Amino acid sequence: MSVSNQSESPQTAPMIDPFGRAITYLRVSVTDRCDFRCVYCMAEDMTFLPKKDLLTLEELDRLCSAFVAKGVRKLRITGGEPLVRRNIISLFEALGRHLESGALDELTVTTNGSQLDRFAQPLYDSGVRRINVSLDTMDRAKFKAITRWGELGKVMAGIQAAQQAGLAIKINTVALKGVNEDELERMIRWAHGEGMDVTLIETMPMGDIDGDRTDQYLPLSKVRAALSEVFTLKDIPYKTGGPARYVEVAETGGRLGLITPLTHNFCESCNRVRVTCTGTLYMCLGQDDAADLRAPLRASEGDALLEAAIDEAISRKPKGHDFVIDRRTRRPSVSRHMSVTGG
Ligand code: SAM
Repeated sequence: MSVSNQSESPQTAPMIDPFGRAITYLRVSVTDRCDFRCVYCMAEDMTFLPKKDLLTLEELDRLCSAFVAKGVRKLRITGGEPLVRRNIISLFEALGRHLESGALDELTVTTNGSQLDRFAQPLYDSGVRRINVSLDTMDRAKFKAITRWGELGKVMAGIQAAQQAGLAIKINTVALKGVNEDELERMIRWAHGEGMDVTLIETMPMGDIDGDRTDQYLPLSKVRAALSEVFTLKDIPYKTGGPARYVEVAETGGRLGLITPLTHNFCESCNRVRVTCTGTLYMCLGQDDAADLRAPLRASEGDALLEAAIDEAISRKPKGHDFVIDRRTRRPSVSRHMSVTGG
């Protein structure tokens, strides 16, 4: 792909929201498609966007570069499954120039790991140094049951390839009541033994799925209490720019992150916004308000319109989300799936 004329990313006005929070972290979903159908994430017969609605890789590069020019220091590529988008490595290669110039601190990716055996080395070569791999179980049959279409062996081979390529890995695990609840200790021991951090995530009420979310929801306060019976957990001030709070596990020497959108609202320190693969900017994962960036992006070759649209949207960034999961609130808090805005 050709690189946009924004290769130098000259600084423009930084993004400060109405609550004084500087926006320095952008998450970009490059496709809504995925090769898995995780039960808590998608229905099995999802309807995906027509390919013509997607931003091209060149447009994604231009959009990301405009955000870098506006002060974004950390860029995460996500999806859907980002590594199933055709020619995606060319986007990483293009964005790598912002690491070289020092405009960007970190370029990273969240993946289900299914394609990592092919792409770990090209990712590293593009400047990626840390990746998140989503893995909810290490039991082959459970893995199939959760992901419907995934194969555990491929993901484990991908993780190994990523380690060999020199990528630091964080394992992201959604805590699911009665599904992987009994396995979390083992997964933490395994990941820490392999030198990987682990982050546990509560299920969030996003998009319609086939089942009832209340059946899956496991508050991390309960998980922490159970883990405290086998591990010594010590709160530590470690931060990656994301919403996780970290503890150190004395027995393994590893770090464990806890993302608790339901039991503890972490919005006060929110530094991020999200863009979908069609160029819609969401100022909060848990709210529906959004801004279209595709029209201003396509309206002219220069970035003035795009920057104005970004500024206007940031001025509307809400204070926080209000996710609820209970038996009376059967509708999802937001109608779009996590795969639209990227987890
Ligand atoms: N396909 C990539 C992956 O698997 O990491 C990136 C996209 S996926 C939507 C990102 C993360 O969101 C995954 O860790 C997934 O488990 C998580 N996720 C999806 N739906 C969720 C939900 N409703 N609540 C909490 N986490 C969710």
